Amino acid sequence: MASFFDTKIEFLKGVGPQKGTLLNKELAIFNYGGLIQHYPFRYEDKSKIYTIGELKKDMPYVQIKGQITNVKKEGHVRRPRLIATFQDDTGKVDLIWFQGVNWVLQKIKPGIEYLLFGKPGLFNNKLTFTHPEIELFSPVKEGESTLYPVYNTTELLRKKYLDSKAIAKLTRQLLIVSLNGKKIEETLPQYIVDHYGFFSREKALQHIHFPADIKHLERAKSRLKFDELFWVQLQLLLEKGKRKAALQGKVMTEIPSVTIFYNEQLPFDLTTAQKQVIKEIRKDMLSGKQMNRLLQGDVGSGKTIVGFICMLMAIDNGTQACMMAPTEILAEQHYQGLKPYADTMGISIALLTGSTKKKERKPLFENLQTGELDLIIGTHALIEDTVKFKELGLCIIDEQHRFGVAQRAKLWNKNSGNNYPHMLVMTATPIPRTLAMTVYGDLDVSVIDELPAGRKPIKTLHKYDSNRLAVFGFLKEEIAKGRQVYIVYPLIEESETLDYKDLMDGYESVCRAFPDQHISIVHGKMKAVDKEYEMSRFVKGETHIMVATTVIEVGVNVPNASVMVIENAERFGLAQLHQLRGRVGRGAEQSYCLLMSDYKLSKEAKLRIDTMVRTNNGFEIADVDLKLRGPGDLSGTQQSGVLDLLIADLATDGRILQEARLCAEKIIDADSKLELPENRNLRKHISSLKKSYVNWGRIS
Ligand code: ADP
Ligand code: MG
Repeated sequence: MASFFDTKIEFLKGVGPQKGTLLNKELAIFNYGGLIQHYPFRYEDKSKIYTIGELKKDMPYVQIKGQITNVKKEGHVRRPRLIATFQDDTGKVDLIWFQGVNWVLQKIKPGIEYLLFGKPGLFNNKLTFTHPEIELFSPVKEGESTLYPVYNTTELLRKKYLDSKAIAKLTRQLLIVSLNGKKIEETLPQYIVDHYGFFSREKALQHIHFPADIKHLERAKSRLKFDELFWVQLQLLLEKGKRKAALQGKVMTEIPSVTIFYNEQLPFDLTTAQKQVIKEIRKDMLSGKQMNRLLQGDVGSGKTIVGFICMLMAIDNGTQACMMAPTEILAEQHYQGLKPYADTMGISIALLTGSTKKKERKPLFENLQTGELDLIIGTHALIEDTVKFKELGLCIIDEQHRFGVAQRAKLWNKNSGNNYPHMLVMTATPIPRTLAMTVYGDLDVSVIDELPAGRKPIKTLHKYDSNRLAVFGFLKEEIAKGRQVYIVYPLIEESETLDYKDLMDGYESVCRAFPDQHISIVHGKMKAVDKEYEMSRFVKGETHIMVATTVIEVGVNVPNASVMVIENAERFGLAQLHQLRGRVGRGAEQSYCLLMSDYKLSKEAKLRIDTMVRTNNGFEIADVDLKLRGPGDLSGTQQSGVLDLLIADLATDGRILQEARLCAEKIIDADSKLELPENRNLRKHISSLKKSYVNWGRIS
């Protein structure tokens, strides 16, 4: 059967070499399997036909029946457009084509009954269909399905008479005629098919292309979506299993200083979520395998202290630990925050950044190599080859999405011995669980889904630019109370002089509005040292207003800052808005986030701003973001493998994904190499799958 699906597409009756080449080039359909997996992107329901009189401009795709009464070519000779009139008993509409004009002209004839499918819109104030699909009308016969598949195709293919209908015909030929009584083999083990009550693979494929009715279509869809997600998960888990078996990690049983710290030093009670995560990490570090864990926790959820406790575990077992942060400010903050604890516990700690002086570096490197130094916090500087450890037991990477995969991988090889350090990657970027499961399927994921008690939720308000005076008045009141405020402008890209002007205009107007204040300014065009200097003045409380671009987005902790003003809020993505808002609300005071915008807002911008106003929950925001943008853009998840899904949709098929993941986990838990007879099919099918998504699962 494999060979049947592998048969070159040109051998299918009705295709041939010329069309075959086109299908290769235009739709990447190379063989029978490719055609079968070219699923319809929607279905026409022939049972509902509107009359023209019923149409309104905001309707979704509709079907109407009528005749062409008038056709004319207009516009430039080389760029003509085609306008036709389409009418039924209740009225007339215009049809417009800007492309493929000659082909359409050939195809449509007056006086014949057509079925038209398209989305009504307005053009020159008249109800119009642009590039509608048109075909001869044929009434549905008794007992025949009313759902017709619609396939993606291209202009070039259409010119060669390979429109959606032709593709449907080829698919029917393949699925029904060419198969010639052979069965399409089942790829899932029967016990899974039975357990979920799935259609067989054959039945699912038939009904995805030619559904008997909507119910059959839904069942076919859920089977095929499950299939797709299941294979990804199974492959990821197999890879993960292999990696785990291969990579040893030091067994860390001792916890004396963890206990002392926990009982005597910890200034607050850990949240339940923090405790749970520490448990998960401890289990990993006891397992004898290398830990490779992603820790997700919303901004302010207290990841740093969790990281510190884990570093103590490493130190308690005679190894060293490091924590890498994406900016000097952040590394410095971690260092200042953790040093007092380390000092009282008699643990040696050091900071290494780009600005660490040469003469300080030498002893530092020596102490790392002799094992004198227990704990090092730093930036990228930690990756440099000169940095070597005696035995690095745990490596923590904060805000991982700022680091490239290659950089992270370098940290693996810092030991003189042959043990790999345990890896903990921490991120505040809220990635929906469904996505994390797929993108990071190769990692273990822990989540801190609760904020420490007593935090006042940040109040978020949407303000129009015309209210700026009132907003500035409010800022003055807050500053008078001793608080600090951020005012953020959209990112300055190298080429975007416009943004730069926005920022500078903004800076000037802030200066004018607050003549008695020193004002910090930080943006991407400044030298690193100047940035750090300005930032540190604000961190120390020497300035009360920070005008900045998104460079301040990551991790900075200034508990006294209580207001975040975001200018041109409509230009930021949701994830970014949420990150920015997370810079405030870190102290005991009531904090505010003010989203400034013009009156004119696109629908999506409005939804983003409304979402921010409605909720503080990072995961809820990430879900909206995923729905708005699709998974491709989410920061930290550029791995394109995720997008290669043919039928499943991560934004809406979370439940199926979860089920597929669970099912794959169960199988791997019981049979890690797929050796049991009942899993024979699985092994066979896995090895026939393309290995396209093996590499993107591993992020550190
Ligand atoms: P993030 O997860 O964003 O990195 P941090 O680790 O910077 O958050 O923690 C934010 C603040 O919350 C810090 O000042 C930290 O000391 C404090 N914190 C962390 N855990 C708790 C807790 N369980 N109870 C109270 N405060 C906590
Ligand atoms: Mg942090």
